[in-house]
Amino acid sequence: MVDYETFLIDGTWAKPSGSGRITVLNASTEEVIGEVPEGAAADVDAAVAAARRAFEDRQGWGGYSAEQRAAALERLADELDKRRDDIAPRVSSQNGMPLGISLQFEVGFPTAVLRYYADLARSTAFEEPRPGFLGMGDAVIQRSPVGVVAAIVPWNYPQALAAWKLGPALAAGCTMVLKPSPETVLDAYLLADAVLAAGLPPGVVNIVPAGREVGAYLVRHPGIDKVAFTGSTAAGRAIGEVCGRLLRPVSLELGGKSAAIVLDDADLDLTRIGSALFVACLVNNGQTCFAGTRVLAPRSRYDEVVDAFSALVSSLAVGDALDPATQIGPMATASHRARVESYIAKGLAEGARVTVGGGRPEHLDRGWFVQPTVFADVDNRSTIAQEEIFGPVLSIIPYTDDDDAVRIANDSEYGLGGTVWTADSARGAEIARQVRTGTIGVNRYLPDPGSPFGGVKASGLGRELGPEGLAGYLELKSIYV
Ligand code: NAD
Repeated sequence: MVDYETFLIDGTWAKPSGSGRITVLNASTEEVIGEVPEGAAADVDAAVAAARRAFEDRQGWGGYSAEQRAAALERLADELDKRRDDIAPRVSSQNGMPLGISLQFEVGFPTAVLRYYADLARSTAFEEPRPGFLGMGDAVIQRSPVGVVAAIVPWNYPQALAAWKLGPALAAGCTMVLKPSPETVLDAYLLADAVLAAGLPPGVVNIVPAGREVGAYLVRHPGIDKVAFTGSTAAGRAIGEVCGRLLRPVSLELGGKSAAIVLDDADLDLTRIGSALFVACLVNNGQTCFAGTRVLAPRSRYDEVVDAFSALVSSLAVGDALDPATQIGPMATASHRARVESYIAKGLAEGARVTVGGGRPEHLDRGWFVQPTVFADVDNRSTIAQEEIFGPVLSIIPYTDDDDAVRIANDSEYGLGGTVWTADSARGAEIARQVRTGTIGVNRYLPDPGSPFGGVKASGLGRELGPEGLAGYLELKSIYV
């Protein structure tokens, strides 16, 4: 039985040490849907100590074979699958993610990631003999777990981004203290319940919901060996500074302002490309780090592109995140909606032209909704084209030729996602190679568990997913024999 008055520490529902509370609101209705204790420094101390004991227990987790770790990951995936009908609506009610999207991205994708890392644990050579180059003997390359991991995740994809860390960390043999975001703590209790049901040894995964200050305490805690962070670029910079001083390994998955480059031969028929464009540019109400919110359109077909995107965006069903028909739900919090609205006001003040949206939906009198919005005639140097809005707001920017499109795509502080839309996929791939970004798709965009995901420039450091994601949780040792 899930105990919402506790934290998952050392394999049990542990009583909190402090008296702070976190209240969770439904983004679609503004109603209170839950309250949990807020983690304090002493809870983090207990969680880190439990994770350390589990890491060092040679009779338990610390002595598990790769096969045992793989089996544990599969049991965790199975337990999450069993809870899918609780997890998806819980995520949706907290952060406004439409229910169909949370079933796919917050249950289907995380369990696929855990299973991918189970397979990878089985196939990875944690010890590898290597012939010496100097002819003076050979070497054994040992890949051992980095240790106790502090995992800090944001509210936009709370389960998926936790799984992106849990999968490789557990496959490597690490243990973890996970700090969910205060906006999405309720689904973290379902994850905790799944961890217990999966029979992971006590202390392997500990979950302490808390805010920024306690997150910062966890990052600099002397018992932590690695920090895995997903969130804003501002917080990532602060965490990176601390980890730099401590020489503590850190991965930073941060913000984005990705370009969706529409080439002059692109098929703009929404019956064929509408759903792929939606996922690439607007999924989860635009509250997605990789969203292609800068649409680059050739001058030769500018009006056609504006018409297509305006038609797509005006066709989207805006409503309660739990309504299966909803395509665009509310913003996660009142303050986040205020931020998105301030960017819409800024776009208007800077002279961009709204073709769709720009206000609040009239048929909804509660919930933190904004109308999905398209700005045309946007200058790439303007605020709405340079700063991450993190809402359903697209800016359509004209370009003259392919080189100009690549130049504009790269004229950004960020480099996380991106897409190229074209009838000629080889031409699209050639353009994709020239964009300075961590991930990019041709006529589609979806992260894959087997391919590295992450950003360049202000979008972050390091990679998650794929074998590269596992490497971030392993230390290398050369033993000369
Ligand atoms: P945020 O940075 O405010 O918070 C993210 C998490 O970090 C929360 O758990 C928060 O409590 C914690 N936190 C904040 N400051 C901290 C600090 N100094 N030390 C330790 N912990 C701290 O971000 P958010 O508003 O919750 O999430 C939205 C941001 O996340 C967007 O910028 C988005 O682009 C980014 N994001 C990136 C990716 C990616 O993979 N690159 C994925 C999803 C979201």
